[in-house]
Amino acid sequence: MPDDLHMTPDEFRRHGHDVVEWVAAYMERVRELPIASAVRPGEIRGRLPEAAPEEPEPFAALLHDLDEVVLPGITHWQAPGWFAYFPANTSGPSILAELASAGLGAQGMLWATSPALTEIEAHVLDWLVDLLGLPQHFKTAVGPGGGVIQMSASDSTHLAHVVARDRASRAGAPIDRLVAYSSSQAHSSVERGARIAGFSRVRLVDVDDAFALRPHALREAIERDLAASLVPTIVTSAIGTTGTGAVDPVAEVADIARERGMWHHVDAAWAGSAMLCEEHRPRQAGAERADSYTFNPHKWLFTNFDCNVLWVADRAPLIETLSILPPYLRNLPSESGEVIDYRDWHVPLGRRFRALKLWWVLRSYGAAGLRHHLREHIALAQELGRRIDEHPRLERVAPVSFALVCFRHRQGNDATDVLAAAINAHPNLHVTPSTVGDTRFVRLAVGQTRTTADDVERLWTAIARAA
Ligand code: PLP
Repeated sequence: MPDDLHMTPDEFRRHGHDVVEWVAAYMERVRELPIASAVRPGEIRGRLPEAAPEEPEPFAALLHDLDEVVLPGITHWQAPGWFAYFPANTSGPSILAELASAGLGAQGMLWATSPALTEIEAHVLDWLVDLLGLPQHFKTAVGPGGGVIQMSASDSTHLAHVVARDRASRAGAPIDRLVAYSSSQAHSSVERGARIAGFSRVRLVDVDDAFALRPHALREAIERDLAASLVPTIVTSAIGTTGTGAVDPVAEVADIARERGMWHHVDAAWAGSAMLCEEHRPRQAGAERADSYTFNPHKWLFTNFDCNVLWVADRAPLIETLSILPPYLRNLPSESGEVIDYRDWHVPLGRRFRALKLWWVLRSYGAAGLRHHLREHIALAQELGRRIDEHPRLERVAPVSFALVCFRHRQGNDATDVLAAAINAHPNLHVTPSTVGDTRFVRLAVGQTRTTADDVERLWTAIARAA
C-alpha cells in the first residue's frame, strides 16, 4: 500500500469534474425522475456492505454508487414538479459556493479564526436587511442589533426563547412562572423551542377565519396568566404559517408585546423571501418593532440547506445569554471589542462558511433576478388559485398566500384525500395532503428553482382530471 493515500490536487481536479458533471446531469434529468422514492424501509441500508472497507476503493466506485445506491432512495425535492411542503430550492451558484466553502474548510467561530467568514456574513446580512425592508438597527454595521446565519428556523426560534427566558430570569422572574405564546397555527418548532428552553407553559392562541392569530385572544390569554401571577415572557408571530401561509397581525402583536414587556419573535421562515418584493412588505408591518426575526434562504431563496437567518434588534441580551470565555479562545481582536465573534450568537462553537453561498446567490441573480423568480412563483400560484375558484368541485380553504395554495374537494375529506392521492400518483408531481381543524385539504407551494408555467399547467391538468 502506498504511504500517502490522500487524493492529490490533480486527482481532485479530475474527480471534481466528474462530480460537477454528475450534478449538472442530475439537474437536467431530475424532471424525468419519479419524484417519490419507492424504496422500502431498510432497502438502502441493505445495499451497503456489513463492514466498512478495509482497503481503499477507487473514486469511480463511489460515483457509481451515487446512481446505484443513493438515487433510488432520494425524494427529488429539486424536481420542477415539486409542490410539496415548502420548497428547499437550490441553485448553481449556491452549490458551487458549498464546494468552495468545503475546499477552504475554515472555521469561523471567532473573527480571528477567519476574518472573511465573519465580515462577509455580517455584511451580506446587512444587505438583506435592506432587501427585505427591515429596520436599520437590525444591521451589525448600525446596531444595536445584527444578523447571524444559523442552521434552521427551529434553532433560531428556540434561541429566541432561551434569550427571552434568560432576560426574564435576570429580572427576577422564577422560570416556572414564565409563559410563551403563539397562534395555534404556529409551526411546531415554536412550541418545541419553548419547551426545550424550559417554558412549562405554552399558550397556543386562537386564530381567525384566515388562520391568523386573534390579538383579542392573545390579550385574554395574557390577562388570565397575569391574574394567576404568571409572567408573559415571549410571543411569536408568524409571517406565512406552514399550514396555510397565514400572516399574523404583527403590528398588533408588537403593541401587545411592548405593553407587557415581552420579547416579540417573528417567524417568517418561508415567506420572508417574498419581502424582497416591495409589494408584499405591508404584510410584515410591525416587524420593525420585533426583538428577533428569522427567515430561511434555504426554503425559497435558491440557497441550499442549511441557511437560516436570525436578526435581533439588540445583540446584547443574545451575547449575554450565550457568552462564556474559556482561556483558549481569548484573543486580542475579541478583546478590542471591534469584531464580531459569531460563536456568541448561537449554541455551536464551530461554524462553517455558509455566508459564501448567500453572497454568491445574491451576486449571481442580483436582487432583480431574485425578485423576478419570486414574483413568477407567486403569479403562478395566484393563477392556480383563480382556476380553483372557478372549478365547480373545488374550493380554497384559505386565501392564496404568497405562493401557497390550499384547497379541497367540495365533496369532503375522503374526496380530498382521493384527489391528493391521484395527483401524487403522477410520478412527476408532488403535493402535500394536510388538515386544518377537521378539514382535509391539498396544500401546494410553487417555489422550486426550475418550476415553470408548463409545470404548473401539468399540475392543473392532473388536478382537474382527478377532481
Ligand atoms: N417556521 C415555519 C413557518 C416553517 O414553515 C418551518 C418549516 O417548514 C419552520 C419554522 C422550520 O424550519 P426549519 O426546518 O428551518 O427549522
